[in-house]
Amino acid sequence: MADSATNRVIIFDTTLRDGEQAPGGSMTVPEKVQIAHQLARLGVDIIEAGFPISSPGQAEAVRRIATEVEGPVICGLARAKEADVHAAGEALESGKRVRIHTFIATSDIHLLSKFADDRYGKSLAAKRETIKEMAADAVKLARTYTDDVEFSAEDAGRTEIDYLVEVAQAAVNAGATTINIPDTTGYCTPSEYAGLFTELMERCHFGPEVIFSTHCHNDLGLAVANSISAVLAGARQVECTINGIGERAGNAALEEFAMALQVRKNRFGLDTGIDSKLLTETSRMVSTFSGFSVQANKAIVGKNAFSHEAGIHQDGVLKNRETYEIMSAADVGQQVEAIRLGRHSGRHGLFSRLTKLGIQVPESKRDVIYDRFLKLADAKKEIGESDLYHLVHEDNPNMNAPHYELEYASASVATNADPEALVRIRHVRTGRIVERGATGDGPIDALYRAIDHAVDESHDLINYNIRSVTEGADALGEVSVLIGIGGPCFNGRSSGTDVVLASAQAYINALNSLAAFRTEEEAVRFVGDGIMRAFEGGVA
Ligand code: MN
Repeated sequence: MADSATNRVIIFDTTLRDGEQAPGGSMTVPEKVQIAHQLARLGVDIIEAGFPISSPGQAEAVRRIATEVEGPVICGLARAKEADVHAAGEALESGKRVRIHTFIATSDIHLLSKFADDRYGKSLAAKRETIKEMAADAVKLARTYTDDVEFSAEDAGRTEIDYLVEVAQAAVNAGATTINIPDTTGYCTPSEYAGLFTELMERCHFGPEVIFSTHCHNDLGLAVANSISAVLAGARQVECTINGIGERAGNAALEEFAMALQVRKNRFGLDTGIDSKLLTETSRMVSTFSGFSVQANKAIVGKNAFSHEAGIHQDGVLKNRETYEIMSAADVGQQVEAIRLGRHSGRHGLFSRLTKLGIQVPESKRDVIYDRFLKLADAKKEIGESDLYHLVHEDNPNMNAPHYELEYASASVATNADPEALVRIRHVRTGRIVERGATGDGPIDALYRAIDHAVDESHDLINYNIRSVTEGADALGEVSVLIGIGGPCFNGRSSGTDVVLASAQAYINALNSLAAFRTEEEAVRFVGDGIMRAFEGGVA
């Protein structure tokens, strides 16, 4: 891949780990596997696929990605604890090229609060010794599984530099080959962060085989700027996520960093292995699966990133694109040729197109998907790429046994009358069919009230979002719904040309996630995630 003496920057994608940690951003295992395939096509060097000890679902995602996805190194996260490292090592067992990423906090504030217990040492100095030993032990243990081990000093941005040097040296002596210096809280400025790398690299005396890595958070909107400053100071790995999703304000956005290096190669002289033409489709896939929409003015992948509104700009661009554009929409895959799939396309046409887009549909689901495709083709003359993502993922793909099925829904509005809705819902486990009606402040409100009367769940509606995902009056609307029960949140998504029905289905999908969570086996999964969130807060 690279060493610290080359101009090649390693892209470490953590969309599926740090990105997925964003509240309400959880994805199903099949969705994560598809994103991993897409990241491999995009050309990332390393995929951090999850945090195996935190839950069976996370372990399963890492195992499947390590088994199925070829190309990038597949990485699993582990705290500097034996059980964590074993869980990561086991989840990665069947992968060809794998990495264990272990971390522990090193800043005084973390040491004194997370490791307050006397068993870590009575004084700060004693705690520092203990933490350094824990880091080295975890790295040694990780090396029994793979030669590729990364160590992160969590909250490095606020760690005293002498101690940071000591910990990094201990980790490398124990066998770590990548040293990550995360600005966990997004506090550093570009010059400060670059200075940290310069000083560390001068004082640590590592050979070129040891790579320094950045991991920046966007709390001050500086994540990409900080990452660039660090690579200019000599870091050769950048940890980032698609669309910049992640804890709080998110992580450094992969697409922005990669394009900054590409567009300003004249200034930086650095390369990545990213195929920039796949950035937009990757962004859309992550947005769809995570439920986080991309703002229209988002750099690189936003819907408006290449549209010119002011007449003077439009005129300039028509005369010469370069008057107002530093890169073209085609460079980042925003101008995808019309796919022109329609009724006539047939089964083969549909599935070969999906395969080309990196979407694998198991044989067992093909009839259902093809059926949906025909229905959509009836409602909409031309089917585009984003329609296809929605076609495959309009329900939760791992929800094999839903609790509720929507059999019928209607909502009506009229002048001088309250909006009214009627629903019929099948309770799958009992076979009971419940029909309920309600009025509301608008047709969606009436619909959701009717659904509430017809199911047995108590919860709050936290967020309802609707957006048009394709062009034209017959556009596909995507609805995402977030419901909660005072802590855990559940996502539901659906799309269709009829937004009222899509709204009903999205709500039912969220309720099915909630109902599944309440069952025994899903409860285990949640406890795992709960521990992770409570314990780690702002992990690395
Ligand atoms: Mn992080």
